[in-house]
Amino acid sequence: MRWVALIEAENISYFYEGNSDGKIAAVKNVSFKIKEGEFWGIIGQTGSGKSTLTELLSGLIKPSEGRVLIEGTDTKSAKNAVRALRGRVGLVFQYPENQLFEETVIKDVCFGPKNLGMSDDEACEAARWALKMVGLDEKYEECSPFELSGGQKRRCAIAGVLAMRPDVLILDEPTAGLDPEGRDRLLDMLREIKGECCKSVVLVSHSMEDVAKSAEKVLVMNGGEAQMQGGAREVYSHADELREIGLDVPQVTRLAERLEKMGCALPREALTVDEAADAICEMLRGKYV
Ligand code: ADP
Ligand code: MG
Repeated sequence: MRWVALIEAENISYFYEGNSDGKIAAVKNVSFKIKEGEFWGIIGQTGSGKSTLTELLSGLIKPSEGRVLIEGTDTKSAKNAVRALRGRVGLVFQYPENQLFEETVIKDVCFGPKNLGMSDDEACEAARWALKMVGLDEKYEECSPFELSGGQKRRCAIAGVLAMRPDVLILDEPTAGLDPEGRDRLLDMLREIKGECCKSVVLVSHSMEDVAKSAEKVLVMNGGEAQMQGGAREVYSHADELREIGLDVPQVTRLAERLEKMGCALPREALTVDEAADAICEMLRGKYV
């Protein structure tokens, strides 16, 4: 069987209808592929086209030019494309908790699976599994989603998408508005989700730190274009280019740069604080033992 990428975008552009001044090109000629097992970070400043891209990649909107293939099916193609694609890609919108609406947590999380045609029992089972994955205890099942804390509401909303068992989970700015602890818990959770339930996760963020903590592959959006893409380390090595477009390298990369200038280059690259700590210890052992 021919090997198929989970999502493949080929030269896609998207134009919004503008006012008097014509069309707004939100995404311009972007190509990229998401393969099984990959954790992508999409990074870019506000207005760079990230949210529009997530809607294109999930088939919610169709490209004005180019094409998006989801597991080999063109989102624009056959009449039954909508049916064929339902549930394959789960999109968690920004501030998804604003869309919680049912009386209880469990009912809310069951909504998506039921929409996909699951029976009540199947939907309930999928919902319980998803709530477990996002770390919401069983005791919350019968609570109103509105009684939950901010971070819990967000996890409940993510469970609602996860319960549909998508192959690819795309989250648009999932850490926005969370405190540092909530943010780190959520990022840890996404790594687990990638390992255990989804073939691939795509995290959209304007925070380089969030992306550095989780993504192995990075797509940098700038003014609707894909400015850079590839392995995280490769992308962060273009520090000047990133700074030119108003982004920065992760703090750990900056620390490594400064150490190098001081003549204390790390023995190997580090992307996370833990990796940096290990590398620094190794360097110190080399110097002083
Ligand atoms: P990001 O998520 O990176 O902030 P968006 O995809 O939301 O970027 O927006 C990209 C561009 O498209 C921006 O210039 C924005 O103003 C424009 N845009 C987004 N949504 C709409 C819309 N519904 N109608 C018109 N223009 C839009
Ligand atoms: Mg956005």
